[in-house]
Amino acid sequence: MKKEYPMCAKCTKRICDPSTKIGAELPPIEEAPPFCPMRLNPDVIEKAVAEYEQKDVKELARLASIQEAECYEWIPTGIGDRLGLRTKTPRLEETIQFAHKMGYHKLGIAFCVGLGNEARILDRILENHGFQVVSVCCKAGRFNKEMIGLKREETIGGPKGHIYYESMCSPITQAEIMNSENVDLAILMGLCVGHDTLFIRYCKVPITVLAAKDRVFGHNPLAAIYLSSSYYRRLMTQPPGKH
Ligand code: SF4
Repeated sequence: MKKEYPMCAKCTKRICDPSTKIGAELPPIEEAPPFCPMRLNPDVIEKAVAEYEQKDVKELARLASIQEAECYEWIPTGIGDRLGLRTKTPRLEETIQFAHKMGYHKLGIAFCVGLGNEARILDRILENHGFQVVSVCCKAGRFNKEMIGLKREETIGGPKGHIYYESMCSPITQAEIMNSENVDLAILMGLCVGHDTLFIRYCKVPITVLAAKDRVFGHNPLAAIYLSSSYYRRLMTQPPGKH
């Protein structure tokens, strides 16, 4: 029989996030589904939670949670004295506020060349908020794509495409420059899938993501999920790779 593995995405119980009143007993772990990581991986969870005992980790987690809470506000609903929770902080402001809380001064932007204009605006916004900003475009170094074994027909230009030189994206270069500049926080801005994987693998400074590239949906990849029961129903039915 196949070994159980964590499948939180399929859970309908969510006893890890119960709506239990403060002071009341939490639902027992036995109520969680058999694939719950709290049942399957207690040792891993214990080890992970012990990491928060490190002073710097605990402080980062504490400030991140304060930042999270500050992204909401309680407002009158107009129904008696009942209050309702409203969101108030877009991710860009959340990033700025968190960076200030952490005492960061030097921020890095690792951006895709396709988001050059957005990077220019972000750079200005961050500088206006008092940060020193290092920014590195994915094409820095302008290496030829042949270097990683790409054939002409595998490039964006394709076999009959344009005749211009196609620089390879080098997320490793971006990461190493963030490392050598010793930025306090590297901000990912629209790197391609896979390129972001390499960046994260090589970057040794703290990272956050401001934008995930989505060429079709204006860098809002979740739009495909929101449309997966209508215009993008094919995502639910077709095997990967079929269009
Ligand atoms: S941790 Fe357990 S209870 Fe929480 S979502 Fe995952 S499976 Fe469900």
